[in-house]
Amino acid sequence: MKKILVTGGAGFIGSHLCETLLGRGHDVVCVDNFFTGAKENILHLRENPHFEIIRHDLINPITLEVDEVYNLACPASPVHYQFNPVKTVKTNVMGTLNMLGLAKRVKARILQASTSEVYGDPAVHPQKETYWGNVNCIGPRGCYDEGKRVAETLMMDYHRQHRVDIRIARIFNTYGPRMAVNDGRVVSNFIVQALRGEPLTVYGKGQQTRSFCFISDMVGGLIAMMEQVETIGPVNLGNPKEFTILALAEKVKALTGSNSAIIFNPLPQDDPVQRKPDITLAQKYLKWKPTVEVDEGLPQTIDYFRNRL
Ligand code: NAD
Ligand code: UDP
Repeated sequence: MKKILVTGGAGFIGSHLCETLLGRGHDVVCVDNFFTGAKENILHLRENPHFEIIRHDLINPITLEVDEVYNLACPASPVHYQFNPVKTVKTNVMGTLNMLGLAKRVKARILQASTSEVYGDPAVHPQKETYWGNVNCIGPRGCYDEGKRVAETLMMDYHRQHRVDIRIARIFNTYGPRMAVNDGRVVSNFIVQALRGEPLTVYGKGQQTRSFCFISDMVGGLIAMMEQVETIGPVNLGNPKEFTILALAEKVKALTGSNSAIIFNPLPQDDPVQRKPDITLAQKYLKWKPTVEVDEGLPQTIDYFRNRL
């Protein structure tokens, strides 16, 4: 059994990852500054003697002895990563640097939670790992997109220069229970709005597309990426089933039985027009593909928010 560090472990994906790793018998250390994470997400794990929580901001170094690092610390919702963009860059650059330094010192394998945002507003569809992307480096999404791109660069350079054992996973839109009520991303927004009887806020005409992966699939993909030895990545992780945002709004309305109206708000700057992962590499090297479609995953997410509200 391994000792595993999960940074951002109190967040949406991180808390599920901690839970699954503990379930597999590992020792898990969660490091989080609780910017977008919540103690409630990991409260149920606190009694487990194999679980530790450290409040720490990853832009500062930390000394720990572990076998593996999952580096997830970074706000993921545009609302939150644009709240303090300089901090977002720091988290991605200094945070990743600190984790790579730690991995190098203790010879731990380290997995970076990268993102489909490295492809920016993609000119190639669906997105393969070989596509270099179309990112506006001076726009409001740059702090996140470019931050994650530098994080990938650091990972590759620590690998080439210092032989650090790395894995890079490019995560596409993921949803499920434990997204924050005020997260601001589309799935949680629509569900919360539908359950409260408020209008569903579609940005633009809602013709932009995203492909939504359920949390249990994503956690399985991240662990498969970490544990296999075929590739260091980058490897796309996501569900290739593509929806327009308007179709998602209608689906959420139908599944919640809500009478909410759908309203159209301005499209944020640089909002990617279409996004869908090519997961050929994940299938080949990780023997992984998602199994939970939105008709199964959305109801579970709706139940979660119904209890929360
Ligand atoms: P989240 O915002 O719920 O979780 C991020 C966690 O990191 C939070 O607990 C937050 O408090 C913590 N954090 C942020 N800055 C920190 C810092 N400086 N020091 C310590 N902790 C810090 O987001 P999530 O959806 O769980 O995303 C987790 C990771 O996966 C992120 O790196 C994100 O970029 C990546 N990702 C997520 C998605 C998605 O759809 N959920 C898509 C692509 C990539
Ligand atoms: N979106 C929307 N209404 C909302 C929140 C988001 O129409 O209340 C749109 C957003 O413009 C984008 C898509 O939904 O086109 C996904 O947005 P999200 O913030 O979830 O993630 P992104 O993939 O853009 O990082």
